[in-house]
Amino acid sequence: MNIVLLGAPGAGKGTQAAKLVEEQGLCHISTGDILRAAVKDQTPLGVKAKGFMDAGELVPDDLIIDLMKERMEQPDTDKGVILDGFPRTTTQAVALDSMLSELGRPLDAALLIDVDSEVIVTRLTSRRMCRECGNIGSAADGETCLKCGGEMYQRDDDNEETVRNRLDVYDKSTAPLIDYYHGKDLLVKIDGDRDPQVVFTDVVSALGL
Ligand code: AMP
Repeated sequence: MNIVLLGAPGAGKGTQAAKLVEEQGLCHISTGDILRAAVKDQTPLGVKAKGFMDAGELVPDDLIIDLMKERMEQPDTDKGVILDGFPRTTTQAVALDSMLSELGRPLDAALLIDVDSEVIVTRLTSRRMCRECGNIGSAADGETCLKCGGEMYQRDDDNEETVRNRLDVYDKSTAPLIDYYHGKDLLVKIDGDRDPQVVFTDVVSALGL
């Protein structure tokens, strides 16, 4: 099964993807995670991407498409993928269609996790992430990861100004993908403003898992 996760930053795509990986054994590909690792390691990609990421802007399509072409060719994608944070523009969506058709793997669904923007601002400015295992938590959970004991930190782009810019970028560049996938009869919409486990129950039933 190959799934695209759609939704504004902070809608809960990462959380739902982690649950799908745990229960269905799919391969989770998050372009945001790959880029953050590249920035941390100061690779050529990371050096090029950092300024865009810190400002809440999208990294240019050609860099992202090259990175995804390479990632999709790795053998762990054979069992099916959950794409989290890709595609984010129509150009990326068209490139994904060609990648999947070259690999002979159809897209099964584009799952939209729908959450109101003001809820997102509150969620993201209090979001924390584990430096060690990438677990997603909240400022209210304290400074230690509840899963692995690692240090929880706030992402550089989770401050309010950058979050509002990321939401504008989402509306302008990524929201048109909702119509794109609706037109292909692949769109599945889920209300994401509920407890993550309740959202997951809907995700599982909407995907027929
Ligand atoms: P995320 O973790 O998905 O919120 O991504 C964090 C940041 O990485 C975004 O704000 C963008 O700057 C960059 N990014 C991640 N995925 C993409 C993508 N598919 N296209 C362009 N930029 C991306």
